[in-house]
This record gives sequence, structure tokens and C-alpha cells, in this order.
Amino acid sequence: MLTGTQVAFIGGDARTLEVIQRLTELDATVSLIGFDNLKQSFVGATHAELTEDLFTALDALLLPPVGTDDEGYVEGVFTSKELRLLPEYIARLPKHAKIYTGMAKPYLKKLCAAHSITLVELFQRDDVAIYNSIPTAEGALLLAIQNTDITIHGSVSVVLGFGRTGATMARTLQGLGAKVLVGVRRNENFARAYEMGFQPFYTSELTKHVGNADLLFNTIPSLIVTGEVIAAMPPRTVIIDLASKPGGTDFRFAERRGVKAILAPGLPGIVAPKTAGRIIASVVSQLIMEDTQKRRNEA
Ligand code: NAP
Repeated sequence: MLTGTQVAFIGGDARTLEVIQRLTELDATVSLIGFDNLKQSFVGATHAELTEDLFTALDALLLPPVGTDDEGYVEGVFTSKELRLLPEYIARLPKHAKIYTGMAKPYLKKLCAAHSITLVELFQRDDVAIYNSIPTAEGALLLAIQNTDITIHGSVSVVLGFGRTGATMARTLQGLGAKVLVGVRRNENFARAYEMGFQPFYTSELTKHVGNADLLFNTIPSLIVTGEVIAAMPPRTVIIDLASKPGGTDFRFAERRGVKAILAPGLPGIVAPKTAGRIIASVVSQLIMEDTQKRRNEA
């Protein structure tokens, strides 16, 4: 249980509600900042204003999946108030306090480093990334279905990258009966993709493997689907780029060539906010419980 643990949430979206729910169930003392338009209430959570005093007794500060923007503004869909995380707030945090977010921009990273506060970027964790790959693959399938006039079954689907998202994407397509080609750069990924029944190839030879593609799913976060690669595709190919912004596709060239290319960031929060929230809730609650236990042992 988290009895006596002080947690504050600043801003957030539907996913955040799952985290609030979990932490209040565990009996944490929860302050909510930026939830004034929220109809739902949580037993054990109280609304608060964003002031320096709030930070002095916190054990954990939870920010939305994209922590702050480049100027410290925090997005909150349940408020019309401006939420800004200022350096003087972070300065007031106890040194053992941790800040949790999905991924942090340089503003937040610098702020935490300057005040020796541990920043936990949840989306970088393997467990979170693997769980998140499930709603990501489902969202990508939705886009594929909406943007093609063929079934996934029987399609030639190319997946670029065989990491946490790529592997799930490839397996999901295979489960629906697609012929799945997987672009990798390491021998061990080539061998694993082969073992799993995909047709692996090296991304250094990408242009040779897209000539018959109906769908291409990119998970490589650097420019890989270049003009040369797009020129080697049939015009019917639909590119769904899952890599973080700006994606790995030459979108300008795709448009000129008449190839449909879609940049699709943040799918878990869009297609399955409840599941995406539960994934975050489960990992964050575990981490805060471990910290709480450690502090109790030291006391
Ligand atoms: P990951 O586990 O690190 O996988 C990335 C893959 O790309 C790895 O297989 C890596 O190969 C490969 N790769 C990287 N650079 C490459 C290059 N230059 N040439 C060939 N292969 C290269 O990452 P992930 O968790 O799957 O995430 C992939 C991307 O999807 C990230 O940008 C992430 O932010 C994004 N994402 C998007 C959504 C969404 O909703 N759209 C959801 C989750 C994640 P090695 O194994 O050889 O390093």
C-alpha cells in the first residue's frame, strides 16, 4: 500500500485517470492540478492549485505522457487553465522525490538535472514499450484497413525494424494471414525473424524488397523510406509510419509520387486510452511502491 505517500498529478488525459484510480486505490495521498473540469471524482484525491508549497512534501510528481513542451507548459485536457512547470517548483521538491512522465523534452531533463531530481521516462522502459506495442499494432491495423481496399489477409506487408514495436507489428500481421517481410540490420534479428516465419531482409537492401508491397509499416526512427525506396514501390503501397516524429519517411516525395504515406504517432493513447492508461498505472504504481518500501526500510 501507499499509505502516507504524497503524489501530485499535473495535467494529463484519459490515460492519466487510470493512474489516478490505481494510486488512490493503493491509498496514496493524491493532489490533482489541472483537473477542474473533470466530472469524475476519486476517493482520496483532492484538487489543488499549482503553487510552490505543493511541491515541498511530494514523493512523486506525475506528468502527462509528453511531460512538458520546450517552455515547460504541461498539457491538461481537463482544464482551461495554463499549467507551467517552473524551475522554482522543482527546486522545492525533496531530493528523494521522482518525476514520472512518458517521454521528456530537454526543458524537463535540464530542470531535473539542475536540481538532482530523478526523472523516469516510462516509454523508454522495455516493459512499457512492449505492452504499448499491442495498442500500437492494433491502431496501425485500423489505419491499414481504413486506407486500403484489400484485406490484410493475403497482403504483402513490409515491417521495418524488429524492435519492441516492429516484432509485435509483424506477428499481428502474420496472425491475420499477411505475407510479412521484415527489414532488419543485425544478423541476430534476421535469424529471429526467419525463425518466426517472416521473410527477413537487410535494410541496406530495402529498395530490392518493396517492389510488391501493399503495406509498409515503419518503426525505424530515422530517414529510411527515402525517395529512392518510394520510387521502387508500386503506387498502391500504403506507408504507415509509426516511428516518433518526424518519422522515417520522405513524406514530401511520397506525396509527389502519389504514394499514400501516413505519420501515425501516439496510437495507444488514441485507439485504446484505457489500456494505455492501465499500462502506465501498473508500472508507475509498482515503481512508487518499491520506492516507498525502500524509504520505509531506511527509516
Ligand atoms: P526499438 O525497440 O528501439 O526498435 C527500433 C528498431 O529500429 C530496432 O530494431 C533497431 O534495430 C531499428 N533501427 C534503428 N535505427 C535503424 C537504422 N538506421 N537502420 C535499420 N534499423 C534501425 O524501438 P520501439 O520501441 O520499437 O519504437 C520504435 C519507434 O516507434 C520509436 O520511434 C517509438 O517512439 C515509436 N513508437 C510509436 C508509437 C506510435 O503510436 N506510433 C508507439 C510506440 C512507439 P537494432 O535492433 O539493430 O538497434
